[in-house]
Parts: sequence; C-alpha cells; structure tokens
Amino acid sequence: MHVLITGGAGFIGSHLTRHLLDRGDTVSILDNLSTGSFANIEPFVANPRYHFAIDTLDNPLVLDRLASQADAIIHLAAAVGVQLVVERPTETIETNVLGTHAVLSAARRYRCRTLIASTSEVYGKGVKIPFSEEDDLLLGPSSRSRWSYAASKLLDEFLGLAAYREHALPVTVVRFFNTVGPGQTGRYGMVVPRFVRQALRGEEITVYGDGEQSRCFCHVYDTVNALASLLDQPDQTAGQIYNVGSRQEVTINQLAQEVIARAGTGSTIRYVPYSEAYAPGFEDMRRRVPDMTKLQTAIGWQATRNLGQILDDVIAYERARLALA
Ligand code: UDP
Repeated sequence: MHVLITGGAGFIGSHLTRHLLDRGDTVSILDNLSTGSFANIEPFVANPRYHFAIDTLDNPLVLDRLASQADAIIHLAAAVGVQLVVERPTETIETNVLGTHAVLSAARRYRCRTLIASTSEVYGKGVKIPFSEEDDLLLGPSSRSRWSYAASKLLDEFLGLAAYREHALPVTVVRFFNTVGPGQTGRYGMVVPRFVRQALRGEEITVYGDGEQSRCFCHVYDTVNALASLLDQPDQTAGQIYNVGSRQEVTINQLAQEVIARAGTGSTIRYVPYSEAYAPGFEDMRRRVPDMTKLQTAIGWQATRNLGQILDDVIAYERARLALA
C-alpha cells in the first residue's frame, strides 16, 4: 500500500513511517517542519519506498500530487500541544481546520482511505470516566483560548464524518490519549519528556498544580500499531471514531516519582502553580481515561506496554541524546 502521512516528520508520524516501511508499504510524507524536524525523517530518505515533501497543507499542487499517488492518507499534521495552542490560537484554528479541509478534498478526488487524527482534548471537562466515543462533550468557553484546540479538532471530526456520509469516503477518526515515547519533544509542554530530561540533568521535577491530576500514557509503538491495523480494515471501521490510548491511569505525582526512581539521579519535586505554568485562567483536566472497548471490539487492539516500559524507553533515548549533545 502507498500511504501519505501528513505531519510525517513529527513524533507520531516518524514512528508510523518506520512501522509502515518495515511492513513493506510505500510512504510519502508532507510536513512543514513546524513542530516536526528533518532529523526525524533522515533515517528514511535513502529508502526507495520513501518520499518526502517539505511544504504546508495549503499548497494545493503538492497535496494533490501526493494524494494522487496514495492509496491511503493518515492526516496527523496539526498544531499540537496545549502550550502552543494557548500562545498561538489563530495558527491552531487555521492549521487544524483548513488543513483537514484540504486533505479531505484531495482524498475525495482520488478516493483515498483516510484516517483523521483527533485528540482526547475533545472530551474537555467531561466527568464521566472513562471517556467513551458516544459521550457528550463538555468544552469551556471560547474566551479561554485553550478550548480552540478541542473545538478545531472537533470540527475536523465533523468534516471527516461528513465526507464519509455524503461522499462515501472511507474516513476513520482516531482520538489520541497522551501518546508518548522516544523522540517526543518537550518544547510544547509534554510532561513525560520534560520530566525525564529534568531528572537526567538532576534538576527539580516541575509538577503543575497539586499533581493529583491523572493521565493514561500510551507508548507510541502501540499507537502506530493501532493506526496501521485501522488502515487495513476500512470496511469495519469507516465512518467511526475510536479512542486510541492506554487504560493504565497514573497521577502526575506518581509519574514524577516513577521517573525519579527509574532515572536514579536523585531529583526532587517542585510544585508550580498553574497560574505560573500556563496563562492566567488556564483549566487543566483532572482525569483523562479512555474507554477502549470500541477499538478492542473492532480490531482486537489494546496497548501492550506499561508505564515502566515507556519510561525506560524514553530515559534510554534521552540519555543517548544528552551524551551526544
Ligand atoms: N505537567 C506537569 N509538569 C510539566 C508539564 C506538564 O505537571 O512540566 C502536567 C500538566 O499540567 C498536565 C499533565 O502534566 O496535567 C499532562 O500534560 P501534557 O502537556 O503532557 O498533556 P495534556 O494531558 O495536558 O494534553
């Protein structure tokens, strides 16, 4: 299969590229290197089954050419990370909504199987745990720019499902829950690479709020496995939304302690008020846990790596990076 990955130079995109090339697919990627990097794609450029274009999604000629050659499109390109979203809301909304519109238009021209990446952020302030795909969604007010991310990704979901209903395009939406692993940048607030880097440098670990908020961290190797399986099963999964995540819930305090124990460098925890960590009025999610029944029933997938394995992989990667620096 020839797969076009938008955002293919990003964290998930580059792991997905490796996975698809390893199983024999041909991969093209389109990425503007805004949060992705050339270093992420360098290992693949000599592969004859790999092609890349460094460009934005608003170049219709490039997107059209790439889509015309592809059997499937996995649309990962997006403005990601809460910090970026709070700092640059206009860019977030435009990148996410106009980008998805452009991808779906190209996919329709060539009838590409399409996966649209969404996010657990769309569950917003929901309190019914675990979050399930048919739940009502509870977003905060538009005066708080953080919600522009969830709202823009939600519109992407509507666009994708509308393309399925109105044009019979085989679109599937995936909602990622805290995907982590080697190679993730800590630049945009992501907690796991930040804590690991702080621990390896012997710095204080910055826990925001009281640290009792919780998350479920999913290894990116498991995530890309789910994407590849979904790609192969359009008949069962087109027109559907699936959570993709782990069911292992940890508080940020537990995460900090686990990172300290595994890194073994004697860091201590420093509590940082939300008002200092983010813009004033920022609202954090207290708990975020996916209901994974739907994906497991559809394709038999579940996360296979636990938090310890994830942290060991990230620590090994970050140690190697520090040694090279
Ligand atoms: N967080 C933290 N310290 C940091 C970065 C993040 O305590 O240096 C917290 C953040 O407030 C949130 C959780 O870790 O409660 C996960 O943050 P991340 O940005 O990784 O993902 P989110 O789930 O917020 O999208």
